[in-house]
Amino acid sequence: MGSNSSNSSSDINKLAKWTSDSECNCDDTIKKVYLIKLNDVPMMSSGLKVQADVGRVILGVVSAGVSENFLFKGHRATHDVIEARVKCKCEGCMKNGCLAKNGKICGSNPYYTLEYTKSGSSMKIGYYSKTLYEDEEYRPTNMNLNNLKEIYNLYEEVDGRNYSLSNFNCKDWAKKVYNRIKNDY
Ligand SMILES: [Zn+2]
Ligand SMILES: [Zn+2]
Repeated sequence: MGSNSSNSSSDINKLAKWTSDSECNCDDTIKKVYLIKLNDVPMMSSGLKVQADVGRVILGVVSAGVSENFLFKGHRATHDVIEARVKCKCEGCMKNGCLAKNGKICGSNPYYTLEYTKSGSSMKIGYYSKTLYEDEEYRPTNMNLNNLKEIYNLYEEVDGRNYSLSNFNCKDWAKKVYNRIKNDY
């Protein structure tokens, strides 16, 4: 492992401008997941932007079919995350934060971020406001927040023991979870 692999999640939070979101306490099954995005967020300071661009060239080559495992050794410039956009369709409940009234749905609209770093996986309420590349997006037809949490639980890793820059990194994990969502919903 080279020194490029040492980015901690706090570095990413700063560089990619982590923005916390909040949500109502309405039932998860009534919160619709309407958009799933696979995003690349920065892992380098802006002074190193050129290197990030070089990283993008590498990504382009990867999508052309060249081995990602080989190309990413020592060249990881971006961090791949899944952004999930949720909208609460609750028509009224007694839970805290429920905004439904006068025939209008609650409409609470938090974003979730699912990601994998050297310290393990996480699913947090919020998003990275600085996104370098939006790789792919998918609109599930019938998925709720509870379904998303179930999928996350399948791939959750409390520590990063399986993390490997060259063989199993943030990108591999995000792609796996993204594909599972596409396949199931
Ligand atoms: Zn709600
Ligand atoms: Zn409610």
